[in-house]
Amino acid sequence: MSAETPTVLLVEDEPAQREVLRYNLASEGFEVVMAETGDEAMILIEEVMPDLILLDWMLPGVSGIEICRRIKTRRETRAIPVIMLSARSEELDRVRGLETGADDYVVKPYSVSELMARVRAQLRRTRPAAVGQRLEYEDIVLDSESHRVTRGGEAIKLGPTEFRLLSTLMEKPGRVWSREQLLDRVWGRDIYVDTRTVDVHVGRLRKALCKHGGADPLRTVRGTGYALG
Ligand code: CA
Repeated sequence: MSAETPTVLLVEDEPAQREVLRYNLASEGFEVVMAETGDEAMILIEEVMPDLILLDWMLPGVSGIEICRRIKTRRETRAIPVIMLSARSEELDRVRGLETGADDYVVKPYSVSELMARVRAQLRRTRPAAVGQRLEYEDIVLDSESHRVTRGGEAIKLGPTEFRLLSTLMEKPGRVWSREQLLDRVWGRDIYVDTRTVDVHVGRLRKALCKHGGADPLRTVRGTGYALG
């Protein structure tokens, strides 16, 4: 599983709906994991830590609303965008859906292209580099579509790992990432890599960014990890 590709968890008990959405999400280039019940969904959320969750309201067992409430009350999962799918269209239900903390809400029958646009909109907010955005931090510009990085207008050559590392850091300037979090995001959690490897690649990234002068934008946080700015 590529670390850059956003993973979408699709929770839907109706096979036909699930297949249409799986197909469309995969066509958008997302990794798709699927659950048919609320219990399955809760296990997969722990295991996969998806970048976005498409959640059917009416599910056998634990309801979509209850799952959404659990996701949004847990610190580890709270930031994952949740889009609720529902056959209910009354305004009251809409309000209830958003009160559980859902980030967006789509009523069935929905247009698949509109739903995909909403998925992209949520990911632009949380994973900008993964959906072809241009990121800027001070004089550093990263274009995730053309895979080009410049600093003060000068081209910066980066290896693929350093590029992923920089795009991760540029998505949230100021955030302190632990080595384990960077391993998960940049290398992917399926691969075993020693945390020392992170230090090696941060070192290379630092060197590349400072090649044409300028202050070191990367901050080492003792005992914790790294941050940009
Ligand atoms: Ca259903």
